[in-house]
Amino acid sequence: MTEHETDRHTTDTTDSMDEPEEDEREEQKEAGDDDEQTVRPSDIDIHESIGNDTLDDLDVELENGGGSSTESTGVDLDEVVLEETKDDSKGLFDDLLSGEPIFENKEVLRPSYTPHELPHRTDQINQMATILVSALRGETPSNILIYGKTGTGKTASAKFVSQELESTSQKYDVPCEVEYINCEVTDTQYRVLAQLANKFIEKNHALIDDRLDSLRDLRSTAADDSERLSDTRFDTVDDVDERIADLETDREEMETVPMTGWPTDRVYSTFFEAVDYNERVVVIMLDEIDKLVEKSGDDTLYNLSRMNSELDNSRISIMGISNDLKFTDFLDPRVKSSLGEEEIVFPPYDANQLRDILQHRADIAFKGDALTDDVIPLCAAFAAQEHGDARRALDLLRTAGELAERSQADTVEEAHVRQAQDKIELDRVVEVVRTLPTQSKIVLFSIILLEKNGVHNINTGEVFNIYKRLCEEIDADILTQRRVTDLISELDMLGIVNAVVVSKGRYGRTKEISLSVPIDETEAVLLSDSRLGNIEDAQPFVQARFDN
Ligand code: ADP
Ligand code: MG
Repeated sequence: MTEHETDRHTTDTTDSMDEPEEDEREEQKEAGDDDEQTVRPSDIDIHESIGNDTLDDLDVELENGGGSSTESTGVDLDEVVLEETKDDSKGLFDDLLSGEPIFENKEVLRPSYTPHELPHRTDQINQMATILVSALRGETPSNILIYGKTGTGKTASAKFVSQELESTSQKYDVPCEVEYINCEVTDTQYRVLAQLANKFIEKNHALIDDRLDSLRDLRSTAADDSERLSDTRFDTVDDVDERIADLETDREEMETVPMTGWPTDRVYSTFFEAVDYNERVVVIMLDEIDKLVEKSGDDTLYNLSRMNSELDNSRISIMGISNDLKFTDFLDPRVKSSLGEEEIVFPPYDANQLRDILQHRADIAFKGDALTDDVIPLCAAFAAQEHGDARRALDLLRTAGELAERSQADTVEEAHVRQAQDKIELDRVVEVVRTLPTQSKIVLFSIILLEKNGVHNINTGEVFNIYKRLCEEIDADILTQRRVTDLISELDMLGIVNAVVVSKGRYGRTKEISLSVPIDETEAVLLSDSRLGNIEDAQPFVQARFDN
């Protein structure tokens, strides 16, 4: 049945018929008891009906024009529909909508939400502000490097400070601007410079348009009354025209940088000219700066950090934010000393601090009595174990709330938090496994096959043997045993396998490998990768190796 037919049917009946009286229904029930084929309105379950006679009958009925009783079932099908849509049974979303005792505003628990209050980060925020206030005085602030593990509030604090800085600069009308770049997304020198260049070109355009507007106003009044020019820097109307023409040329010459294709030095000089077009102090925030350096080296930072000596009108200051405490080890010493003029560390939160953070958010996110007393302390405790990660704490709280909501509970309980912890952990594993490079996936699959075949204390040699067979089977390149050993170490670091080195006395040392993630889920993720092709079919073949 098409949607259209359903619609028509329901509409017809709603228009033409009222709900059956109580006693009418009784009659139908009684009549139906004698007849095997009878469908009672109250018996109909939409899901069960699909594919059986009931719906077929409905179709026939509709073709005949609809709206009347059906002899074959002895029941007026219109009433059936009425029952379904109007009365005791609920639509797909009704149940979910009606019971909503949990969330008031779930968005507040999402990572995209920028909190207005950041408890336990006052020191770090004040340090940033003390350094950056120079920008509001027209001086160049020192470059800043911010360190801290994920979820310690670096991005949230930096964004908070940058909003304050920009709003204060507007209040006092000082030319100070903050540009925020997430280097995990914008991860090459070209892209960083192009993004900056285009931002400033856009700003310059707006600036030029403003000036042009006032100059054209001046031009038209001065044409009638040249006295108007007396308190301006123009002597004649021609001077004004000349200035207008200059600005128009400037505007035209500012060419936005395409996302690819230009030589990097052209992108750099375009950015340079755009930023120096006007007097201003610019703070460039490079979040996840370690990702940029990892992916494309330190050229970007080198170029940015030496710009001030060449800029005429503007000054830039760099604020780098890194999750990796050791990333400066990879930097050119000049870049390292220039970038690290000031360093601010964001230590992990402890369980008590996480409680405060969660409480602040929970007050806005949840309905009045939705949380039982254990929920926030437990989320805080779990996240404190996870290197004091506030993101994890918030994820846990949100997921626990969602699980409670899904099970139609009235409150979020400790059990929901524990379930949430398991779910998040499994999601993490699935995501890590899903995004492994193909070769690592084959290595991991080899370990899974060995475990599934009851091999304990798996050693690297055994993994390598299975790995080779699997590669042959799916036509993948075969890496050396050394490389496979490296890949196993990487899997160990990711927490997917556990590899311990054991001494075998005079036979040297070997690794004993075991899986540290749920085997079935992990296998399912691997098998869902089309690049691993028919690796599943290779199993019996591998298995046979253990038979002899
Ligand atoms: P990082 O950049 O250090 O990885 P974020 O700043 O992204 O961490 O913080 C992770 C999550 O925790 C975000 O949702 C953020 O709003 C929240 N958060 C972190 N610190 C605090 C805090 N002190 N108060 C309130 N929320 C916080
Ligand atoms: Mg961050």
